[in-house]
Amino acid sequence: MRIFSGIQPTGRKHLGNHIGAIRQYVEGQDRGDPAIYCIVDLHATTVAYEPAVLRERVLDTTAILLAAGLDPDRCVLFRQGDVVEHTELCWLLCSVTALGELNRMHQFRDKSVAQRELVSAGLLLYPVLQAADVLAYRAHEVPVGEDQREHIELMRDIAARFNARFGGGEEILVVPEHRIPEVGARIMDLQDPTRKMSTTGGSPEGTVYVLDEPEVIEKKLKRAVTDSDDPPSIRRDPAVKPGVTNLIDLVATARGVTPAEVEAEMASARGYGDLKAAAATAVVEMLAPVRERYAAVRPDEVALEAILAAGADKARALASQTLADVREAMAVGPPR
Ligand code: ATP
Ligand code: MG
Repeated sequence: MRIFSGIQPTGRKHLGNHIGAIRQYVEGQDRGDPAIYCIVDLHATTVAYEPAVLRERVLDTTAILLAAGLDPDRCVLFRQGDVVEHTELCWLLCSVTALGELNRMHQFRDKSVAQRELVSAGLLLYPVLQAADVLAYRAHEVPVGEDQREHIELMRDIAARFNARFGGGEEILVVPEHRIPEVGARIMDLQDPTRKMSTTGGSPEGTVYVLDEPEVIEKKLKRAVTDSDDPPSIRRDPAVKPGVTNLIDLVATARGVTPAEVEAEMASARGYGDLKAAAATAVVEMLAPVRERYAAVRPDEVALEAILAAGADKARALASQTLADVREAMAVGPPR
């Protein structure tokens, strides 16, 4: 079972990333053969960004992943831009990707309207590069949050279409499966619980960062938007009560219990204040150890770069095999 997932080095990683993705990465280390995790600096160039900041953010993200429990001896942790096979495969896969499909992707639609100066072609091609990321490793499983379901579907279509067009009956590329958690796959913005918590599109007060101080986390959760039901009712109902549902899911995932158990426990609560306080305590307890380890790991940039470089060597060895097969099947470059 090969596992692959990518995470962007844009901005600081938030609670949604931690619960929807990073925790699954940590768990995947023991199942993956190997588990491969990539910091996708090339994807980060698809929206406006500052080159001087990007390198910092890559190291921030690397340190967050290590602090959350990734162990470079038990997984392959690397930076996308170190392994050129990703970009080459992206181009080759463009030949089996329909423009209409890319145009319809929700992420492209949402992010392109947010761009002030330039909607880059990279933003449109983002899902093809993402397909290349995964398919280059012939990964079987892709741990992601709910927002990536559509991109994984497209990636599966691309792989199947490639095999049908160029495989001559062989499965040159593996058609991967997503792994989306049952609870916590879509953590919502605390100030606007109808939108996902997001690095680029969210509100600052509604976004809890993995590295936020406990007091900041408490403040943000105490101000979380709920609803005006009278009497207050603490039950899951994503369509009608998105804010309350989000808080219940936060308590459940942070404590490792089911949402039903949280609802039962909260049956005797006096109001939403109790739910917010429970969420604050649970989230602080979950993130405090990560923040402490981050402070220990982040300063040694030489060590972080060395970890990424060693990971890139391992990644390249795997991806280059796939690329050799893809080039051969497509008759690109000299014959084998
Ligand atoms: P952006 O908003 O700029 O796309 P992001 O917050 O989605 O940034 P990414 O690095 O693109 O961050 O996503 C990393 C992983 O986190 C992906 O697997 C994604 O599905 C997951 N994820 C992102 N937001 C949430 C969320 N609110 N709840 C659960 N999982 C999430
Ligand atoms: Mg995203």
